[in-house]
Amino acid sequence: MKQIILSDIHGNLEALKSVLESAEKEGEIKYCLGDIIGYGANPSECLSLIRQFHLITVAGNHEVAVVHPGLTAVFNPEARRAIFWTRDHLTNQELTEIESFPIQRILGEIVLVHSSLIEPEYWHYLYSEEDVEANFQCIKEGQICFFGHSHVPVIYSWKAGKLSVLSTEKEERLDLSAKYLINVGAVGQPRDGDPRAAYGVFDPDERTIIVRRVEYDIATAQKKIIEANLPAFLASRLSLGR
Ligand code: ZN
Repeated sequence: MKQIILSDIHGNLEALKSVLESAEKEGEIKYCLGDIIGYGANPSECLSLIRQFHLITVAGNHEVAVVHPGLTAVFNPEARRAIFWTRDHLTNQELTEIESFPIQRILGEIVLVHSSLIEPEYWHYLYSEEDVEANFQCIKEGQICFFGHSHVPVIYSWKAGKLSVLSTEKEERLDLSAKYLINVGAVGQPRDGDPRAAYGVFDPDERTIIVRRVEYDIATAQKKIIEANLPAFLASRLSLGR
């Protein structure tokens, strides 16, 4: 059975519902790579759906920040405001649940992390080839690490000491003698210029991966952000996918 991987939902219930509706027909909704909350107006509802589908989840920087708001010093002003708003709209029970998410999971050939395998608690981005190569040193041949954080889908492969970048738009067959770092894009706040929600579909038997895109009701998600008095920029950027 195919496995569905979600990341960076960011409290966007409209995007999450569209993704679940589409993905459910395709496979088991299986993994969540963090940042379920932050930015969007429905943190509680998104958390509830993740719980309902029993997703195997790792924490993102927004989860850690909402539990420890002192850590928002490194956030931009809009993100910081959204973290405090989100904290005010979650119950103590939900905050305890969020605090229980581990920062990384190793499940045989599958490795889950929100940002980087190097110092995952510091939420590094994989900016350079050196960053990507350093991350590849953390996994073995045959292992696939799914990550999020940048909200930009990408597949890096490492075989016989050589780094390649593969397309996420067509189905890729994964080589057992290679290792992979795969960003499945963002459900709730895409930043690759395509405003549609993104999610990953992994077939463990065929060893294939593809990132799917689905339309969702962007206007309603934006309206909710404005009505909640969250920063307007968090609404406007949804139309741009930036
Ligand atoms: Zn994020």
